[in-house]
Amino acid sequence: MMQGYLRPMPIDVQLARSLTPGCSHVLHFNSCGSSLMPTPVLDAVKAHLDLEARIGGYEAAAQAMPHWERAYDSLAGMLNCDRNELAITENASRAWEMAFHAIPLGPGDRILTGHAEYVSNWLAFLLVRQRTGCRVELVPNDEHGQIDTHALSSMMDQRVKLVALTHMPSSNGLINPAEEVGRLVKGSGALYLLDACQSVGQLPLDVKAIGCDLLSGTGRKFLRGPRGTGFLFVRKEVLERLSPPFIEHQSANWDELERFSWRMDARRFETWEKSYANVIGLAQAVDHAMSWGLDAIAERVGDLANELRNTLATVPGVRVHDLGLRKSGIVTFTKNGVDPMRMMQELGAQGINITAARKEIARLDLEERGLDRVARVGIHYFNTSEEVERFVAAVSDMS
Ligand SMILES: *Cc1c(COP(=O)(O)O)cnc(C)c1O
Repeated sequence: MMQGYLRPMPIDVQLARSLTPGCSHVLHFNSCGSSLMPTPVLDAVKAHLDLEARIGGYEAAAQAMPHWERAYDSLAGMLNCDRNELAITENASRAWEMAFHAIPLGPGDRILTGHAEYVSNWLAFLLVRQRTGCRVELVPNDEHGQIDTHALSSMMDQRVKLVALTHMPSSNGLINPAEEVGRLVKGSGALYLLDACQSVGQLPLDVKAIGCDLLSGTGRKFLRGPRGTGFLFVRKEVLERLSPPFIEHQSANWDELERFSWRMDARRFETWEKSYANVIGLAQAVDHAMSWGLDAIAERVGDLANELRNTLATVPGVRVHDLGLRKSGIVTFTKNGVDPMRMMQELGAQGINITAARKEIARLDLEERGLDRVARVGIHYFNTSEEVERFVAAVSDMS
């Protein structure tokens, strides 16, 4: 994967596991759903809740300001952007929606998207098409199952106002070529909105290299932050082209009785009330990921996921369903005669956490490929080859 480059310092897996209390209780293959928090995240969240209980919520936020303000610096460092280009939200869906519904769209304007697009994003396209008369067009997949960049290039014109891409779908192990898409959108006048929920914390993400104008991410998945956290990156050059769908006293200033002005930075997409404990936890999660290095994380996740795919493929009746030239830490598969929902439950009873992806939330992907449900694993750097073996043995035993 990193041919021609220096390999990053490998992760000390024993240390990573000793910093992950959940590792001694479960075999956690669900980092694409919600990962296991490491101790520094957990301790920081608990400490802030304790402080709130002891001295009061407003007073605790004031005292802990350096800790939650650091979340912007940590995210900016990870994404290679400015701290003023970031909004922290209660989840990634809200971050994405704030960006999407801020984009001016009218009749005949075109939105281009791909088959990996997240369910809620697609629903928002349908809603806004209904309201505005804009058009929603699907870019086909190429022979590898990723977005066809040649097709995208031929579809671009003046009417395209938005190219929306999901970097890694939640229904199979594909990694879309986000940087190539960025090069195609650049200079076209369209905005490029990247849903990076499954890639943040799993891959190095550089918004300048990707060339996206907007990027949304969640805290609880591969980033290993607390649930109920998300963020939005808004490139400063596009801020004034957007019209936030909601307003409140965090996002705007009430200048005079009948006049307001938006906040100067991307925090115009935030709400005033938030869980400060969670924001502090998010900062810790980013710092924790950066302490291992995202190159090192990507390499280990890629290796473990490939090991799992290769081993699963040797089990009679098992088929792996991941698409893409480059693959992520998400591994999807089916076993003949075993309903993935039942597989999830039976493995759960053995202390093994996975989920199942259903066509009802992946019509552009699973339904189009004639798949009803697939078992879904999200593997992370704190997982081990022994866990891969134990997991594959458990799947083999199932009928
Ligand atoms: C999980 C996920 C989301 C939604 O994130 P939330 O934080 O749950 O709102 C969006 N897009 C993708 C690709 C996801 O996997």
